[in-house]
Amino acid sequence: MIDALLVRGRRPAALDRLPDGGGWLFIEIGGDDPADAHANAERVAAVLADRTGAATSIAADPRDQKQLWGIREAASGIATRIPTADGSTEAWPGWEDAAVPPERLGAYLREFRALLLDHGLRGIPYGHFGEGCVHVRIDFELTTEDGRARFRAFMEDAADLVVAHGGSLSGEHGDGQARAELLPRMYSPEILRLFEAFKAIWDPDDLLNPGVLVRPRAMDADLRFDGPVRELPLTLRYPHDGGSLAVATRRCVGVGKCIDTSTGVMCPSYMATGKEEHSTRGRARLLSEMMRGETVTDGWRSTEVRDALDLCLACKGCLSDCPVHVDMASYKAEFLHQHYRGRCGRPRTTPSVSCPCGRASPPPCRGSPTRCSTRSGCRTC
Ligand code: SF4
Repeated sequence: MIDALLVRGRRPAALDRLPDGGGWLFIEIGGDDPADAHANAERVAAVLADRTGAATSIAADPRDQKQLWGIREAASGIATRIPTADGSTEAWPGWEDAAVPPERLGAYLREFRALLLDHGLRGIPYGHFGEGCVHVRIDFELTTEDGRARFRAFMEDAADLVVAHGGSLSGEHGDGQARAELLPRMYSPEILRLFEAFKAIWDPDDLLNPGVLVRPRAMDADLRFDGPVRELPLTLRYPHDGGSLAVATRRCVGVGKCIDTSTGVMCPSYMATGKEEHSTRGRARLLSEMMRGETVTDGWRSTEVRDALDLCLACKGCLSDCPVHVDMASYKAEFLHQHYRGRCGRPRTTPSVSCPCGRASPPPCRGSPTRCSTRSGCRTC
């Protein structure tokens, strides 16, 4: 988790509070007053050191506590990228919510790690260890047929593993189509028939969530990345996303820090309008749809995407505060560059993209189509 955080993020000073190790368990301890809480914490630390040999550290400063909890709260975003030797790779939900009885957690985690290795997969576990619930995103290769077959094989084996430990496929978030196909591994046929009969009482025409839990569609039937991604010309290099804007926009997994108006700096345009399309998340989703070409069909010429980006201040608040570092300012520069490429009418206020030669891009159109110089490359190139 920390390695993933540091691939692009700033190093929070509170990391220095963590003792040495490869994983950390946060324990919150109270008392009648701060001194009593501190004394209780020292007693717990002494017992842990004595019985387990674990290194401990007490974070009593509220700023440290806030920073450390902030990392945990951002985990579902941080864990979307797993560090590799040359950067990071995408990681996906699917097996992100299994829970086992807390006393089985250690054994489950050891076998779970072995299972990941067997399938050639990696994941970053985090979650509510006190309740035995482990969240993990895994580097499934969902864009290839082989990768989807491996996803299916892993999910089936993982379901058997969690059931063998007396656990549940979902401890917190619910099953959904991702795991409903696996429910027969956890429940008897009789229980499943009762689920079906109960739903039929309230929803006889099967209008509500058809194919999701009762008579579910296959877990790999409606994956978000089925289907082609459009090959649109790019000017920026996206070095952290393998040169792909589609991969860059997939950074957003909908955590929603950009629409949390109580903290941080982002997203100022959402704070002003309260509209999803003016949030980092909304813009990332629109750009992603544009790359897929199903609902936004006119590529770089899309007026929907242009309008959603219009109020983006290019402040880079998302690059610093978003847990997955969505860089909307760069995507906006790319979009506007491509949107007005070869056309008259680029507003003077829109940011520009430098020519690959390093010179500044041409000035915006002054109004006469015959004199329009808004095309790729600088004047010299
Ligand atoms: S760069 Fe744009 S999307 Fe990102 S926080 Fe600023 S206004 Fe919002």
